[in-house]
Amino acid sequence: MRAAGRVVYQVLGRCREMCRPGVTTREIDEEAYRVFSSMGARGLFKNYPTYKPGEGFPSNLCISVNEVVVHGIADDREIADGDIVGLDCGVQLDGWCGDSATTVLVGDVPADVRKLCEVTEQVLALAIENMRPGRRWSQVARIMQGYAEDAGLGVVRDFVGHGIGQSMHEDPKVPNFVSPDLLRHDIELREGVVLAVEPMCNMGTREVVTMADGWTVLTADRKPSAHYEHTVAVTANGADVLTDGS
Ligand code: MG
Ligand code: MG
Repeated sequence: MRAAGRVVYQVLGRCREMCRPGVTTREIDEEAYRVFSSMGARGLFKNYPTYKPGEGFPSNLCISVNEVVVHGIADDREIADGDIVGLDCGVQLDGWCGDSATTVLVGDVPADVRKLCEVTEQVLALAIENMRPGRRWSQVARIMQGYAEDAGLGVVRDFVGHGIGQSMHEDPKVPNFVSPDLLRHDIELREGVVLAVEPMCNMGTREVVTMADGWTVLTADRKPSAHYEHTVAVTANGADVLTDGS
């Protein structure tokens, strides 16, 4: 899984460099395909199935700009100065999966949007710091939710992290908040468990809406949203991040 994680890290690094004004999200998406293919990996997002037969996800990455929370589709949109660009990549290599996301700040990003990104990235860092055998996920999720909400952010409820292994999306669901459902079906972290942890935080309301394309998820108030994700293994010594290039 670390080998798959390294591919994802390389893809996101290359795509981050490309996030400059005037570059289209399609150009970034095509470069992602070249990078993971050259490393022998298979992308996991293109043609990801939906409830409509024959209408899988159309791009290699999810590229989610500004008010797009997740699952943005690459197209001819040009990146502009001041944008925040969410890049989410999942690949499979030799039968094992890696999944990671980051949000790239392009040029002169307003201070409040910069803060949104910093806090969301810190929410992920806090989760990783607090993952270890014997912990229940609700304990970690409480820390994540508290940090984001104390900063005035909305923690998205409709999308959550997930187990990951030979498939990208495995049980359990890994929420970034505490709910009665999580407390009823809490997850005990054990050595060898691997989770994709992926906080999604909004500058305004936590509510989201899905566009008519069936994929693109927007904030209900159209304020910006940030997303960071790592594939994280629980080991005897704590968390081991598999998608940080190490
Ligand atoms: Mg992802
Ligand atoms: Mg994921």
